[in-house]
Formats: sequence, structure tokens, C-alpha cells
Amino acid sequence: MTTQTQPQAADTTDAVTVRGVDKTFETRSGQVHALQSIDLTVSAGEFVSLIGPSGCGKSTLMRLIADLDQPTAGSVSVFGKTAKQARLDQDYGIAFQQAGLLPWRTVSANVGLPLELHGTSSRERTSRITELLDMVGLSDFSDRYPDQLSGGMQQRVAIARSLAEKPDLLLMDEPFGALDEMTRERMQTELVRICAETGAAVVFVTHSIPEAVYLSDRVVVMSPRPGRIQEIIPMALDRAPAAADGLREERAFFDMVTAVREALHTGSPVPSGPRGVENR
Ligand code: ADP
Ligand code: MG
Repeated sequence: MTTQTQPQAADTTDAVTVRGVDKTFETRSGQVHALQSIDLTVSAGEFVSLIGPSGCGKSTLMRLIADLDQPTAGSVSVFGKTAKQARLDQDYGIAFQQAGLLPWRTVSANVGLPLELHGTSSRERTSRITELLDMVGLSDFSDRYPDQLSGGMQQRVAIARSLAEKPDLLLMDEPFGALDEMTRERMQTELVRICAETGAAVVFVTHSIPEAVYLSDRVVVMSPRPGRIQEIIPMALDRAPAAADGLREERAFFDMVTAVREALHTGSPVPSGPRGVENR
């Protein structure tokens, strides 16, 4: 922990704090107003999904949190630091749509990269890589190169890499988009388990309503351009590991799916409070 002055009065226990964020892109054909008045706090250990129509600014918001781009107005902090400082300190793992693997490194070497950068011993690295590849079902592919893998497998390598350091925060932008349905559900279950185990907070972008409901403590529904937060829906579900397996078949799960779908499609407000959950 560094003890430098904090430019924002953010609570350091929160994983992510977004305050009054606007983002406008200047393009040759004029301005694109991508995000407007975004306020969002993600607590430590909390799983928050962003869902909304294509082009509503989900990836832009993720890129601002990851300091890959800067807001036009407002502020972003991560564990009470500036987004930039958090990036320099490697306070989070990233898995974005494009796997972003280094083509000249093997699967193992890609997964182990964050550990190498942080000076983890080679013995420790090897055992952690073995564990991670096992988790994403790629143990037999450790010596392959990215271009020898399918898109879904590359994505699993990227997910393993994002988890390498057991970060306190994961930024995941449609990480399961390229996976087949069965692998996708397995990865979702794994992610729930990992989060329970490590206490990591997650900001997760998805197009899938059931995926958002299954994974999240809260689902942030965004409206079309300029992207605004239309509604934040708490998921009143028991996501304890033991319950996670049957969760997708539960009545409360479908009620939450309906709540998110209604918020997304009609834009009409959903009655406050968990629906149908208390009278199971
Ligand atoms: P989403 O991830 O929700 O589909 P994006 O965040 O990728 O949406 O994009 C939001 C809007 O901002 C879109 O209209 C997109 O075209 C625009 N946009 C994103 N990045 C840039 C950029 N670098 N330059 C110009 N426009 C951009
Ligand atoms: Mg996107």
C-alpha cells in the first residue's frame, strides 16, 4: 500500500467508485455522446453486471475503470485510488471480449504473465498455472500457442490469466461470449466459486439476462445512447456454492430474469423490492 494523497474522497473499502462520469468521443463525423451522468459504486466483494443494448457504452465504462481511456467529466476510483494508480499497481484482473493473448507465448506462459511481472518464483508459478489451466479445462493445451486454439479456448486462457493473481477486482467484458453454452455454464459456476473463495469484486458486461442474474448481486440496466443507468436491480438470490447448482431452475431465478427483461425491454420501472422471492 502506498500512502500518497488521494485526489478523490472515495471510500477505500469500495472496489470501484464512478462519480458523475460523462464520455464524449470526438470523431470525424462529429461527437458521439457515449456515457452520461454515470454514478456507480461497486463494494468490495460485490458482483455487478452491466447489461444494455449494443452501443450503450458498457465497454466504454469498463475501459474508463481500467484506465484505458479517460472520462470527459467526472471521476473514477478503484480501491480509493485513481484509475491510473490502480492500473499501475495492477489491482485488478482483466478479461475482455478479445482474448488479447501474446501470440509468441504458449498457453502456460500467457497465463503466468501477471505472475512473472510480479516476480512470483518459478516454482510457485508452475503450480498456480497448473491449477488455473485445470480450472478452465485446458491442462492438455499448456504448450500450445494461441493460434492453435479455438476462439473459446483462447478466451478461457484469458480468463485463467485474469485470475492468476487472485485479484480483489475483476473487470470482465463479455468474457464468455465466444463459449458454447455448456462451457459457458461451467465457467459461470466456476466464477461464482472463485468469487466466493477469493472475495473478489467483479464488474461484468454481458448480453445474457440469465447470465447476469445467475452471477450478480446487482444488475445495472443501461439505456441506449447516450448510455445512462436506467435502473439498478438487486438480485435477491441465494448464491451460496451449494445452492448455485440448482439456482438456474428456481422460481426466484426466473422472477429476477423477468425483472431484468422488463427493465431492459420496456424501460418501465419494475416494482421495488424483490419480487416473488419472499414467498417461495
Ligand atoms: P457497448 O459496449 O455497450 O456495445 P461501447 O462502449 O463499445 O458500447 O460504445 C458506446 C458508443 O461509443 C458507441 O456508439 C460507439 O460507437 C462509441 N465509441 C466507442 N469507442 C469509441 C471510440 N474510440 N471512438 C469513437 N466512438 C466510440
Ligand atoms: Mg461492448
